[in-house]
Amino acid sequence: RERGPRMHPDMLELYEVTDHVLGVGTFATVKEIKLKSTGKSYALKIILKKSLQGKGTMLNTEISILSKVRHPNCVSLLELFETEDAVYLVTDLAEGGELFDQLLKKGSYTEGDAARLVREMLLGVEYLHEMDIVHRDLKPENLLFMDKTDNARLMITDFGLSKVLTSGNDVLMTACGTPGYVAPEVLEQIGHGKPVDIWSVGVIAYTLLCGYTPFWGEDQASLFECIISGEYEYEEEYWKDISGLAKAFIDSLLVRPAEKRPTATQALNHPWFRAMLEQDMVTP
Ligand code: ADP
Ligand code: MG
Repeated sequence: RERGPRMHPDMLELYEVTDHVLGVGTFATVKEIKLKSTGKSYALKIILKKSLQGKGTMLNTEISILSKVRHPNCVSLLELFETEDAVYLVTDLAEGGELFDQLLKKGSYTEGDAARLVREMLLGVEYLHEMDIVHRDLKPENLLFMDKTDNARLMITDFGLSKVLTSGNDVLMTACGTPGYVAPEVLEQIGHGKPVDIWSVGVIAYTLLCGYTPFWGEDQASLFECIISGEYEYEEEYWKDISGLAKAFIDSLLVRPAEKRPTATQALNHPWFRAMLEQDMVTP
């Protein structure tokens, strides 16, 4: 029955590992586990060491940084176990699932809802950037809802590790074939700093509002070309009811030279958020 890597004995003493697979990512399988002493559920992220390709030391450095991350919009790393074959990360459980799945279900979000989600995303990014952590792989698959309610908090997952688990071109190859959220300077291999995440937030904001990504191509090569060109449109059919402020916000993030993009803090000060908040207060 035991097909995965052999679990750490201390972990098995403390936690019951369930068969419930919460998700499968690029490098990890994530399962629900229960702390035996309290019955409370957590997520267990299992990373096979063979996928690290000799970068185990880097992983340890990253993990020591990740274990310091404590923010309402970031999934916290609570405990770590290691065996010969695998690394096991115990994190908060995000019961609401991926933003990706919610978006598929809904088609798109109202401006008010999108603004709330983008704001929470940016609060998490702001915090990570303050800690000098660049996510590099922000996309709706890596944004998880805390619970299944309508106003569930959004949490960023999978940060930091992308730096260890991927290098250069790997980012592109491993991004499930459609790296539509990646910044142009990553594709051109000329940059991977904090502005990379701001670009991705811009792509996500666009996608939440209309239900499709701004950059598109028949194949990966033409998608890359499209991203590098930096050109996108607001098709009348889908965007006619969306405010100019929302478009101005997206335009301010999807700027080609990375230095011209706002910081997360600056982006949070965009008038779009204030306008949405005020609207929320007048409409029941
Ligand atoms: P990878 O580095 O392999 O991409 P992720 O951390 O993104 O791994 O996890 C893969 C998937 O597992 C996520 O997209 C999500 O569906 C699920 N998942 C990850 N962490 C959690 C969590 N804390 N709570 C619930 N589901 C999770
Ligand atoms: Mg992931």
